[in-house]
Amino acid sequence: MKSASVVNYAPQKGSVELREMEKPLIGDEDVLLEVANVGVCGSDLHQWTADHSWPVNYPVVLGHEFGGHIIEKGKNVQGWKEGDRVVSETAAIVDLNNPMSRRGLYNLDPTRKGFGYGVHGAMTKFVKVPARCLHRVPDRLAFEQACLTEPCCVAYNAVVENAHIKPGDRVVVLGPGTIGILCTAVAKLCGAEVAVVGLAADAARLAISKKYGCEVITGDASSWAKERDGLGADCIIDAAGSSATLKIALDLVRPAGQISKVGWGPQPLNFSLDQLVQKNVRLHGSFSHNWPIWERVIAMLASGQLDVKPIIGGIWPVTEWLEAFEKMHKGEIVKAVLKPV
Ligand SMILES: [Zn+2]
Repeated sequence: MKSASVVNYAPQKGSVELREMEKPLIGDEDVLLEVANVGVCGSDLHQWTADHSWPVNYPVVLGHEFGGHIIEKGKNVQGWKEGDRVVSETAAIVDLNNPMSRRGLYNLDPTRKGFGYGVHGAMTKFVKVPARCLHRVPDRLAFEQACLTEPCCVAYNAVVENAHIKPGDRVVVLGPGTIGILCTAVAKLCGAEVAVVGLAADAARLAISKKYGCEVITGDASSWAKERDGLGADCIIDAAGSSATLKIALDLVRPAGQISKVGWGPQPLNFSLDQLVQKNVRLHGSFSHNWPIWERVIAMLASGQLDVKPIIGGIWPVTEWLEAFEKMHKGEIVKAVLKPV
């Protein structure tokens, strides 16, 4: 049985097309999911425009933000049954004996391979998933929203685990993409005053950020960051997709403040890090997420405490992936969600 799938087939720019792919065969530790919805990530767009910086196993079905129903399970799979509503973590392949995996940080295992670049992802009807990646989705949480658990986990890790925000802190979020806006939402839940910073071209996405009760700044955020006592913001969450924004973060952060860097880009830096030292700033990278973060975020989505509806710009059938990708790429919408056909 074949189904329409969004396939990234070569390293050249624009090498994504719709292909009919065979239903995957599962192993003893896997389940087969019938995909309900799959989010389009900035990294899917980067593979499409060929400005990504990670190795891709071509040809590969794109998509790593997904949920659906279990329709088949391998003989060693316990605790799950056909019909269960689930979302899946992204670390499709990890070395369970890697020291990082042994301490629960399998997301930091350097041999990790994810859905959508290392193995076939979920912009299709059926996807093979190792049972250890699964999390249960309560009935009251719709798949259109549950499929965005993954970017919410990225934000939770950047704001809660890798930064320490106190009620009343001033937090500046750089970049109004999906991760920036979700970091804003999580920082608000931590009790912070938050401003999201973007460029003039980000007007549509900045307007959506406002729904999370934050300030919105186009261009220079230094007066907002320094408004209280002239020293700068307590925390900067750098969610812009480049390395160079670290310079802005260092300018805006107050002495003894913190920077959590979750946005990345391969370009080298060309400035001094003296401010990092002189201001005694704590700079923390933030990558991916792990099991306890997923459980926490699903609970927050199910209770309505964290609401992803404002960032969803539409739901397209996978056959119309190009329109969805283009709208996101142009910044007309924050997040596109696809549905298999
Ligand atoms: Zn993603």
